[in-house]
Amino acid sequence: MLSTLIYRSQLSDSVTPERVKALVEHSSIKNAAAEVTGILLFDGQHFFQVLEGTVDNVHAVFERICQDDRHFNLIELMRDYAPARRFGHAGMALFDLRDYEKHTVVDALLKRVTLNDERIRHDRVVKFLRSFVEGRDKETFIGIDPASHWTLTTPLTADVQPSWQPQPDQRCEFALQPIVDATNRQIVSCEALIRGLHGAPPADYFSQLPESERYQADLYSKTYAFQLARHLGLGELTLSVNLLPMSLVMIDDAVEHLIQQIRLQGLRPEQVVVEVTEDEIISRFDEFQFAVQQLKAAGISLALDDFGAGFAGLSLLADFQPDKVKIDRKLITDIHRSGPRQAIVLAILKCCQALEITVIAEGVEKIEEWLWLEGAGVRYYQGFLFARPALNALPAVSWPVRRPK
Ligand code: C2E
Ligand code: MN
Ligand code: MN
Repeated sequence: MLSTLIYRSQLSDSVTPERVKALVEHSSIKNAAAEVTGILLFDGQHFFQVLEGTVDNVHAVFERICQDDRHFNLIELMRDYAPARRFGHAGMALFDLRDYEKHTVVDALLKRVTLNDERIRHDRVVKFLRSFVEGRDKETFIGIDPASHWTLTTPLTADVQPSWQPQPDQRCEFALQPIVDATNRQIVSCEALIRGLHGAPPADYFSQLPESERYQADLYSKTYAFQLARHLGLGELTLSVNLLPMSLVMIDDAVEHLIQQIRLQGLRPEQVVVEVTEDEIISRFDEFQFAVQQLKAAGISLALDDFGAGFAGLSLLADFQPDKVKIDRKLITDIHRSGPRQAIVLAILKCCQALEITVIAEGVEKIEEWLWLEGAGVRYYQGFLFARPALNALPAVSWPVRRPK
């Protein structure tokens, strides 16, 4: 099967633009051997390349390109399949935009297309090329520092000593993970994540319960989270707790119960955030909406968790606006290298900005992910990069710092 891949990247400082021609000729020979064709655009600073060939060969060539340290900020923009090559000439011609007058460059580029088809102008690949040539792609391009310019303040460690022991009859415990403002080096909130005996993960805890007890166990477990918060003396920090949306719907007086427990542990409803995932909400929206009204009336905030991973997504936001949106880890992982993820997250940010909804990026593990998200305007983060969840304790946070030059 014929596959197409497009990426963009930036020329490293160590390579002079004059050397680019020679480098391209060298790799063009390798591409030709693998029958990978395409086109490579260069504007003096950025590369923009289309690769066409069999799935395996394109993959192999792209892997090699990714390892090359003569360019950086490499972002994969498109992966697709096509019946025929757009650029069928052997090798990989370099198309240097600086050799053309601005108004002639698109036509010159289209002359390189070997596929003879009327519809080529509407082809996604050609549209991508035009966007680069016309500089429109710059609107969404966020260049980041190489990760090697950055380090973390304290060693990553999950070995935080529990500072509080649960009661012997307690059937579940909580691990805490900070949500941080990395620029101001502040913990802004703390998420309580449920754990079974001996720190077993949430899924294990819930799976050993009979189906009929799930919602009750979920709701009543929150008392332990509030207790832990009191014992650790969270002060003015916000505490986020997770609830299945149906735990608020199926249990009578669920919201009153929550508010009572919050107060009983000396917390204020205003410092509690309830996180719900989108997929369960849609099934009984009206009842859920009523529970939300009660929560909000008491001063409790609402966060939409794992945003982008479920079914409802943006249409849910049309009917219901939470105070916070937590972007799911699947969209955050390797965001610095993925054009589609970048486009989606930028759209989420724009939408949430218009609705004055706070955005939190979840599952940040790499410095590069954080650098890109910072560049995009994200302020709040949760992830192993900063701190892993710690059982019955508030873990220390590692902060990114720029290495001295
Ligand atoms: P969540 O609410 O989205 O919580 C974040 C999960 O991602 C946590 O997993 C956390 O340990 C993990 N995580 C955080 N940062 C990173 C990272 O950088 N990389 C990776 N790979 N993972 C990261 P955990 O504790 O296993 O919780 C899984 C899910 O279980 C939670 O996802 C939440 O949906 C659910 N859950 C947790 N506590 C409760 C609860 O009390 N009630 C209910 N109904 N669900 C809960
Ligand atoms: Mn959560
Ligand atoms: Mn989540």
